[in-house]
Amino acid sequence: MKILIASNNNHKIQEINSICESVLPGYFKFFKLDDIISEPFDVEETGITLEENAILKAKAYYQIAKMPVLADDTGLEVRALDYKPGVYSARYSGKHGDDAANRRLLLKNMESESDRYAHFRTVLCFFDGSKEIIVEGKCAGKIAFQEIGDNGFGYDSIFIPEGYSDTFAELSTAEKNAISHRFKAVMNFAKLFV
Ligand code: IMP
Repeated sequence: MKILIASNNNHKIQEINSICESVLPGYFKFFKLDDIISEPFDVEETGITLEENAILKAKAYYQIAKMPVLADDTGLEVRALDYKPGVYSARYSGKHGDDAANRRLLLKNMESESDRYAHFRTVLCFFDGSKEIIVEGKCAGKIAFQEIGDNGFGYDSIFIPEGYSDTFAELSTAEKNAISHRFKAVMNFAKLFV
């Protein structure tokens, strides 16, 4: 099945692709928007929940490409910060997509907190022009006291998944993809096609 991934984030695209390949080898063929059109395209994420933004992105990309679309909206929800930054994870520090500034601000806001619990939550929306499917996946863990590790992206270097002593950024891609929020969401999506 041919699916367009509604994202400009190559890390996300690679993770979704390799998770799907490991569960349903050869079943999905994923495309990026620049495989289809050459003009740059971005969707303003105006939703106030991850679900709203995932739907918004899936439908906007569908309008452009007129093919089945899968959109991913992910947030880091930190208990001591009233489950923020959540839907605002990409612009926590003010500037959209400044991952380093977002991590620095989060660590600063957590400096004197003993409750380190957090989880990542991924919401996926599939839309093919008529059918809309929403699934989600969560990965629980805790916020580290400092950045450690070079793998992954976003908040990976400050998030230690439950049962581990290393951050996501210290784990290999395969290790992260076997336990992550995105893995759980993609599994919930892929099993609808088995
Ligand atoms: P969005 O889903 O692209 O809006 O991403 C929201 C924010 O969460 C961005 O700052 C991403 O860098 C970050 N993010 C999304 N997925 C992950 C992940 O798997 N690990 C770490 N950070 C992530």
